[in-house]
Amino acid sequence: AIDFKWIRDNKDVVAANIKSRNSTADLELVLELYEKYCGLQKEVERLRAERNAVANKMKGKMEASVRQTLVEEGKNLKEGLLALEEVLVQITDKLQLEAQCIPNITHPAVPIGGEESSLVRKLVGSPGEFSFPVKDHVQIGKELDLFDFDAAAEVSGSKFYYLKNEAVLLEMALVNWALSEVSKKGFTPLITPEIVRSSVVEKCGFQPRGQNTQVYSVEGSDQCLIGTAEIPVGGIHMDSILPDSSLPLKYVAHSHCFRTEAGAAGTATRGLYRVHQFSKVEMFIFCRPEDSNFYHEELIGIEEELFASLGLHFKTLDMATGDLGAPAYRKFDVEAWMPGLGRYGEISSASNCTDYQSRRLNIRYRRSLADREAAGSKKGKGSNAAPTQFVHTLNATACAVPRLIVCLLENFQQEDGSVVIPDPLRRFMGGLEVISPKI
Ligand code: AMP
Repeated sequence: AIDFKWIRDNKDVVAANIKSRNSTADLELVLELYEKYCGLQKEVERLRAERNAVANKMKGKMEASVRQTLVEEGKNLKEGLLALEEVLVQITDKLQLEAQCIPNITHPAVPIGGEESSLVRKLVGSPGEFSFPVKDHVQIGKELDLFDFDAAAEVSGSKFYYLKNEAVLLEMALVNWALSEVSKKGFTPLITPEIVRSSVVEKCGFQPRGQNTQVYSVEGSDQCLIGTAEIPVGGIHMDSILPDSSLPLKYVAHSHCFRTEAGAAGTATRGLYRVHQFSKVEMFIFCRPEDSNFYHEELIGIEEELFASLGLHFKTLDMATGDLGAPAYRKFDVEAWMPGLGRYGEISSASNCTDYQSRRLNIRYRRSLADREAAGSKKGKGSNAAPTQFVHTLNATACAVPRLIVCLLENFQQEDGSVVIPDPLRRFMGGLEVISPKI
């Protein structure tokens, strides 16, 4: 349920927002289609009323010739109506498709501009000092026999990998550690489907088709491979009215993620940094609208706590308008220091999507009576049937495995070629403290 009326009535605000977010959405086309849609809908309603009136007239007794005229009239109306209803369906589909591209509104504190305009919210730690020449994760992995990129290139294509030996334990440990830490904070653990309907992908604000889509489609079906667990978790409550008392609903989900990485040519592609398939642990919250800014802070707080506990050096950014994508109202990214790469690299992202996804996924809640009374609404007849409202949704990365493997190998490499495992992960690796070169 996209609020087209609001979009029409706030045209200038929407246009300015589209511009500042570098979006390709075509507002004029959406408004034109909406006007057509409204006109058609009125016409369809008028014809339906006329058809009903004719049907009513035919109920009584009448001369055969009069009945015949009415039958003809009813037939013409029915045919006209069918044709118009078909056009209405087409216009509605086109309107929905175009409107999906209109981005969410933007939090007033978000800096306007491109990537360079993002603001640093927090800086944790400092880059480690090395008394020996640092290697990048690809080199470290080669020496410790942790990856096989060559075989993966033959078997699957570029940007795929085999993890080997301790790297396998490290992936499992990172997933288990993140799931266990976040579950302790009251999030319900989930393992999600990794193939979903294209319509759900669309409703979450991603484009499943088109030239630059990041989404892999399943040929001959209306399904896609997920790019993030945000999609199946967002969909878990679609088309439902959640009990007020159940909010906030907090989930922590493990899934594989599949991305075409279309348009990523020329960006850092070496090794594990940008790959087509990876494991991720994702946090997701459904909450009341007035609480979403609070939970956004909670999510970024959890990310910072997790990464600090691994001993990483990182900064948290308040992302500028040009970098928000369509669904986010505000987005905080974490960029960690990767000494082998010699730069900071994004390791996580926390977004408040307000009602952008819930409107499309149709996820509502109804305020409890006590709550409505406290807010001053009148008691008595009808107050139980208070209108429903859309919930707000938020998502945040707890652990994007390959980027963390890059960080861990590059930051904790030792002069003798070994890599020290950070303390919180050791118990998930059978107590392993160091990955040592094989003799
Ligand atoms: P996103 O859902 O796009 O915000 O991505 C969440 C996190 O997943 C990012 O912050 C990265 O750490 C990681 N990530 C995104 N794309 C890739 C990729 N192609 N390969 C490896 N990690 C990725």
